[in-house]
Amino acid sequence: MNLKSRFFLLVSGLIIAASLATWAVFQRITEDIIERWGANIAEIQVRYDSSRLLQNIERELGLARQMTDSEIIQRWARYPDDPLLERAAIEEMERFRQNFAGRNYFLALRDSGAYYYNNADNEFADRQLRYNLNPDTPTDAWFYQLIAEGREFHLNVNPDESLGVTKLWVDVLLRANDRIVGVAGTGIDLDQVLQKIVDLEQPGINTLFVDANGAIQLYRDRRLIDYASFVKPEGQKKTVDLLLDRPADRAWLGNTLRSLKQLDSPDHGVHTGFVQVDGRRHLAGITYLPSIGWYEITLLDLDVVLPMGNFAPLLLVFALTLLLSLAAFHVALRRQVIDPVVALESAMERLRTGQPLPRNLPDRPDEMGRLVTHFERMADSIHRHTRELEDTVSERTEALHRLARKDALTELFNRRGMNELLDEEMHRMQRENRTFGLIWLDIDNFKGVNDRLGHATGDRVLQRVAACLNASIRPYDHAARWGGDEFLVILAPCDSECLQGIGERIRQSLEASPEAPAITVSIGGALAQSDDTLEAILLRADDALYQAKENGRNQFYVAQQEALVRVGG
Ligand code: GH3
Ligand code: MG
Repeated sequence: MNLKSRFFLLVSGLIIAASLATWAVFQRITEDIIERWGANIAEIQVRYDSSRLLQNIERELGLARQMTDSEIIQRWARYPDDPLLERAAIEEMERFRQNFAGRNYFLALRDSGAYYYNNADNEFADRQLRYNLNPDTPTDAWFYQLIAEGREFHLNVNPDESLGVTKLWVDVLLRANDRIVGVAGTGIDLDQVLQKIVDLEQPGINTLFVDANGAIQLYRDRRLIDYASFVKPEGQKKTVDLLLDRPADRAWLGNTLRSLKQLDSPDHGVHTGFVQVDGRRHLAGITYLPSIGWYEITLLDLDVVLPMGNFAPLLLVFALTLLLSLAAFHVALRRQVIDPVVALESAMERLRTGQPLPRNLPDRPDEMGRLVTHFERMADSIHRHTRELEDTVSERTEALHRLARKDALTELFNRRGMNELLDEEMHRMQRENRTFGLIWLDIDNFKGVNDRLGHATGDRVLQRVAACLNASIRPYDHAARWGGDEFLVILAPCDSECLQGIGERIRQSLEASPEAPAITVSIGGALAQSDDTLEAILLRADDALYQAKENGRNQFYVAQQEALVRVGG
């Protein structure tokens, strides 16, 4: 994996990890906000709903109390059989009817069971005595139970089958001479109450009112309302437990209801907590309404009231920022690091293979720019050193080559150099059909010079011979020290005359040399023939030299057609 991919992966990993952590924190915080906000909403909602219900009910309750306290009604209650008092009482009740919100009233007497009622349409004018209650009729049980319990007032959601209405009944005990003589009050149309208080079109908010036992009194789903609940035995009531999915929530709610009632404060506060309703988490806000003995419960479906989706733009911004950061990082990394590194890498490869460096290397005032400058300087000096090294090597090679072919003492060609020259000359002769002359020279009695005058003097003698040879031959001839005190000279091009002339000149000039010690040389010469081998030529020259030595030294013999001819000396 290349540097770019690795960097990209690393940074992506880091950003994703950071995002996940941020997301977790974000979720935690938003949930916390939603919970706290939800608790506030629940509290406000509970207070708002309760006050609206109480506003309606407390007014009716007050009016019902005024009605039961009315002198006229009290008097009649004491003498219920007095028709005059009855008439006056009915008139009084009709006046109250005008004030009740539902424009209806009822009054039931304990002893006779007589039940008086008139409604908003004044349907029962002059026949307000509707019927007589009977302790044995189950639908009349509410009346006898209220009297038995002796509660000053009671709210009862109950369908009145004989009247064909379902109302929220506000029941107040009627007392005369400290004796309970009946129950009176008014009915508020249940539909109206439900519409005004609990049927509000607020998505995700569910309001219900339950009585002291948790039995549902007001709820938007009428089927769950526990009608006439106070006459039902425990266990048959439709309680708020029906709404809750989990037993733990039911237990918590039961405890909350009890503890709220026990609080010794006029404002019983609002308790909040999470419960599961229809498989969804709801925030429940609960308060106790001491004036009517009910509880109000508001259930907030937070996913609806404050859905996490509200935070979607935030998430979108977050995701976009993330993507943009990644893209920006990618571009910056490529421009600032990867591209220059790749350019440097290819430049190094070119340097390695000896190609010229590219001209587009980044020129920047940062670390990368300095790195490039260092690299260019390094490449320059490598180029320079390589060139110098190559020059030196070729110089040295040439010198070595030269040295390998030269004699150190005399600076003439050595035997190897002479062999090469001889080969070349042989080739040239065959190619161009031109002959060359060969001179073989040996110093006479050289051992004696060494022995008498020392080796160093012997060396100087050798150098003198070399200098003489150089001076005697033409610029295009070659002289060599063949070994010891023997020298060879190639004369090319050459004929017999030239060979004899130059050989004799050499012999004479050495003989005539004024330098001490005086020396002489013997020389053999041969002229190459076109069908000659090198060995044959050398042999002829050597024979001639031998002859010169044999004949007393300081002589020059030339091999000519099987004979050796003395040229000089
Ligand atoms: P001849 O007349 O028969 O040639 O007698 P010579 O004494 O010259 O005998 P020869 O040519 O056989 O002897 C060659 C001598 O050259 C023997 C050796 O000591 C001497 N010699 C060979 N190389 C060198 C050298 O580099 N320096 C010195 N000073 N002497 C050398
Ligand atoms: Mg000799």
